[in-house]
Formats: sequence, structure tokens, C-alpha cells
Amino acid sequence: MANQNPFEIAQKQLDACAEIIRLDPNAHAILRVPMRELHVSLPVRMDDGSVRVFQGFRVQYNDARGPTKGGIRFHPDETIDTVRALAAWMTWKCALLDLPLGGAKGGVICDPKQMSKGELERLSRAYIQGEYQFIGPDKDIPAPDVYTNPQVMAWMMDEYSKIAGKNQFGVITGKPLSMGGSAGRGDATARGGWYTVREAAKECGVDLKDATVAIQGYGNAGYGAACLGKALFGSRIVAISDSKGGIFSKEGLGPEAVGEHKAKTTSVINFPDTKPISNEELLGLEVDILMPAALESVITEKNAPSIKAKILAELANGPTTPEADDILYKNGVHVIPDFLCNAGGVTVSYFEMVQNFYMYYWEEKEVHERLDRKMTIAYHSVLDASKKYNVNMRQAAYVVAVERVVEAMKLRGWV
Ligand code: NAD
Repeated sequence: MANQNPFEIAQKQLDACAEIIRLDPNAHAILRVPMRELHVSLPVRMDDGSVRVFQGFRVQYNDARGPTKGGIRFHPDETIDTVRALAAWMTWKCALLDLPLGGAKGGVICDPKQMSKGELERLSRAYIQGEYQFIGPDKDIPAPDVYTNPQVMAWMMDEYSKIAGKNQFGVITGKPLSMGGSAGRGDATARGGWYTVREAAKECGVDLKDATVAIQGYGNAGYGAACLGKALFGSRIVAISDSKGGIFSKEGLGPEAVGEHKAKTTSVINFPDTKPISNEELLGLEVDILMPAALESVITEKNAPSIKAKILAELANGPTTPEADDILYKNGVHVIPDFLCNAGGVTVSYFEMVQNFYMYYWEEKEVHERLDRKMTIAYHSVLDASKKYNVNMRQAAYVVAVERVVEAMKLRGWV
């Protein structure tokens, strides 16, 4: 079902893992629900002089392994259950990458495409005013996510610093490079995803040179993935889509040119010399690698049987429903699950925090090397667990991550 509640999906995935590892019921009960959440109403002065009240959330799912971390989304369809699910996935993601962090997520119900820059700035600042007590550099550290960007992070960091009375660069990551950001953060999610695809390709016998790739979503994650796939491995990006539709070219698309076209026209559609395709058609293309990089629950029991890709690299969070997972596993599609595949973003965000604390900044090459090491180790820990327990890659990722969180909870005496 396309509209399945993402938090129920996250809980189902945890329940399946609990069975595999015979999870202690007390630990299971703690991990099924968020530890804390804050709901805020944010009055914002609009350009026409009126005041609009936006609903905002922050969910801190579990902090057994360290301060919580997770992005903030600005989206008209945001719901508290989406934020809860994403906060749970952040918990597993940080544990899987062995970062000393717990998981959180934030969101505001708004349509940033319909808002002016000034309105967005006032909303960003209002979010921090509402959440100030709840977040902090050693408590909970937000980052960008869908429809938020380095500029939004800069406003938020500035607002937090103003209230704190001192610069607090470490309160938020994904900041602009000139203001406490890390080299290599911009394309970290996509780059980290490709490091896992490189390892998966070895496992599946796919030659990345000239391998065909379809990408759904052309924002930060999708655009970065298209550019890097071509630049790092010589892969051929044959299809790209966004919320308005998709384009296909058998010979391969120029990712940067498509990006420029989207910047000019607001969409990838109507890019010259391409065949228009729907988002649904893109998912079913005969390609080596399929990368969903847009929203959750797009691969369902309905369309999973028609997926022909050898590797499904989940750059988006929660793109695949549990029912679809079973079908993909049976059909031999090698899934790199979301909280492994897209963990490059939070990993470099963590590097950004470390650099902020030390006031010493690394060169881009060093960031890439450290990221590669983290992603490669995480991929192989998941692959090993999938072979050891004879389970699919998502369940294996859960096994590795949940066992780490449970170990921390046990050591702390929570269970
Ligand atoms: P973004 O806002 O930059 O881009 C989102 C893209 O998805 C846009 O191109 C938009 O047009 C497209 N889109 C929206 N609705 C769509 C639909 N119905 N069909 C097809 N395309 C649609 O967001 P992003 O930062 O690239 O994030 C995309 C996904 O990756 C999300 O699931 C996010 O949680 C995940 N993710 C992002 C990061 C990161 O660092 N940016 C890190 C981890 C995970």
C-alpha cells in the first residue's frame, strides 16, 4: 500500500529483527517507541503582514549510544509518524556506522516552494526558538533533509547562537563551508551510497563501468548520485525523475546539464532528446542499479514484482515497504537498505561536529577517505550478518544496529 504509515513500517522491521536475534522483550519495548518528542506551533509573519501558524516536530528516538542526531524536513505532507519513523531509522543508521550518536528527526508542515526567502528565514528561526531547550551540541544535533539546505542550517545556527549568547557551530550540521561546514558534506549522502554500491557490485558481479542507473528524485541525494556515478565509476545514468515526472535516454544523460535544466525550469522534464517517463515506469526499468532518492513508500507489493534492477540502492529513507522487501528478496534483487546506503550524510555530519569541536578542519580528500572506510566496513558488517543469519540485507542491517543499541542500553543498566 502506497500510503502505509511509515512508523508502523519501522516498527514492523524492528519486530522482525527482534525475532531473528531473540531480542530481550524489555529492550524491544523500549526500542518500539521514541524516548521523547516535542510538538511546537510556530507563528510566522508572512510577507503580506498576516501571521501563519506552522506545526513543527522534533523526535528523539533513542540516545543510549550518545546525543541524538537527525535532519529537519520542511514538507507539506509531513506527519508526526513520518518523523518518528525517520528518527528510528536514524538510531539504527548511527549505530550501524558505529557513530557515537543516537537518532532523532525533525519536521515542519509547510510548503517551502510557496514561501519567500524571508518567510523561510523567519520559519527557520521560529523552529529554533520553539526547540531551543530541546536541542543542543551535546544533546540533539539537527541537519538538512528534504527541502532544507545549508542556508536554512545557517539561519538556525545563528538563531541558536543568538539565544545562547555565543557562537554554537556544533548545534547543527550541513552548514555552509564558510561557516563551520565540513568539506565533502554536500555530496556525502550520494558518495557514501556509491561506496556501498561499489561493494555490492563486487558481490553481484556487476561491472560499474557503463552500468545502467535509474534515479528517482533529483534533489541533493539524487543529483549527487547521478554526478558521482558517472564521475567516479563511469556508470551510465539512463533515467532521472522528480516530483513532476521523469526522463529517459538509453545513451545516458549528462547529470550536470539535467541539473542546470532543472534549476532553470524547476523540473527535469522536457530535457532535450529524452523520452518522457513516469515515476512508476522509472522504477520498473531494466537497469543494473535503481536508486530511489525521493520519498518513502514508493516501492510496494504492487510494483516490486516489476523491479528488474540487480542492485536497489536506497538513497531515500523508507522507500520500500516490508511486503515489497519480501518480493525483492525472493526475486534476487540485492537491496542496500536505506540506513546503510544513505548513511554518508550523517557520517560526514558527524565529521563536521568533530571538526567544530576541535576548531580544526580537514581537507576534502581526508573526508572522502574516512567516509569510504566507514561505509565499506558498515556494508561488509551487514553482508556478513545477512549470510550468518540467512536473512535479507535490511534485516541484517537491523541485526547489527539493534544489537549495538541494546548493548549500550544493557551497559547503562536500562534493561
Ligand atoms: P531534496 O529536497 O533535495 O530532493 C527531493 C527530490 O525528490 C526532489 O527532486 C523532488 O522533486 C523529488 N520528489 C518529491 N516528490 C517526489 C515524487 N512523488 N516522485 C518523484 N520525485 C519526487 O531531498 P534530499 O535531501 O535529496 O532527500 C531525498 C531522500 O534522501 C529523502 O528520503 C531523504 O530523507 C533522504 N536522505 C537525504 C540525505 C541528505 O543528506 N540530503 C541524507 C540521508 C537521506
